[in-house]
Amino acid sequence: MVNDFRLVRPKTLPEALGLLDEFGQEIEPVAGGTDLLVKLEDGRIRPSQVMDLSALNELKQIRLVGEDLHLGALVTHTAVLESPLTRTEAPLLVMGCRTVGSTQIRNMGTLGGNLATASPAGDSIPALVALEAKVVLASKKGERTLPVEDFLVGPGKTERRREELIKEIILPCAREGEKGFYNKLGQRNALAISIANVAVWVRLGERKNTLSRVRIAFGALAPTVKRGRMVEDALTDRELDEASLKGITQLAWKEVAPITDIRASAQYRRDMAIALLYQSLYHILFLS
Ligand SMILES: Cc1cc2nc3c(=O)[nH]c(=O)nc-3n(C[C@H](O)[C@H](O)[C@H](O)COP(=O)(O)OP(=O)(O)OC[C@H]3O[C@@H](n4cnc5c(N)ncnc54)[C@H](O)[C@@H]3O)c2cc1C
Repeated sequence: MVNDFRLVRPKTLPEALGLLDEFGQEIEPVAGGTDLLVKLEDGRIRPSQVMDLSALNELKQIRLVGEDLHLGALVTHTAVLESPLTRTEAPLLVMGCRTVGSTQIRNMGTLGGNLATASPAGDSIPALVALEAKVVLASKKGERTLPVEDFLVGPGKTERRREELIKEIILPCAREGEKGFYNKLGQRNALAISIANVAVWVRLGERKNTLSRVRIAFGALAPTVKRGRMVEDALTDRELDEASLKGITQLAWKEVAPITDIRASAQYRRDMAIALLYQSLYHILFLS
């Protein structure tokens, strides 16, 4: 049952930050509403004010700044899929956003909303963590920038303060010799929350079948999206074949800390972490 609340619709970012500064404890921002409306409907949150961000056009831009890509918090998953800039500069993020919900959800749902919701299963987040993206938080007092990995502190919990808005996400543009793969296991191909997922980003080494840099992010396999640093190190600067890949990806078992819930058991999730990682790296090394 939705409670009564006052709806405010600032037209500029400074106006929005002023409202948050004044009413931070009582006000809930809403972007696409695909997460927030569910929480309002079932009474999990009861804000006295809801701040509709949809008029803040400055947060809808995708821009190239030097060697980085800046994505405004209100960029939708569909905009990520359709932008020529993200397709060339952030193909791993495109792969993640493509698996979000359905066309309707992707049309409304935003990157900022996905990040603020901080679901361990959020589909844009593994790519952001693997790409070592940063999140810019704005308040009336100024801005601060955090690695996305540090921004996420638990299921539904982030470092965002009540008076802050996510302003944008910054990630390094893809370079020659870099490849990525996002691999999601759900109960269906669409409208399915991840049972487990993995985003892999690599820089190919000079020698055949070697990787000079590797970054791995596991989703739905721990309280937050989690880097797999042990596996990354084991994969770097060594010649890989099917057998060694199979051996090293077993290490994923030690990197994750999944739970048992209605979607799958912890044991199944661990097994799938290994399988998804093996499949992703096999694809990058031997099939693409
Ligand atoms: C049917 C259905 C299927 C779904 N499937 C998937 C899926 O497959 N994968 C997946 O990852 N997600 C899925 N979702 C969840 C959701 O669509 C995404 O998390 C989406 O990206 C949320 O974005 P939004 O703009 O709609 O967020 P909103 O609902 O508007 O906001 C979500 C939260 O973020 C806060 N917020 C929003 N923008 C900002 C900002 N700029 N600064 C600070 N706080 C902000 C809000 O206050 C709220 O707490 C699904 C949801 C539904 C209803």
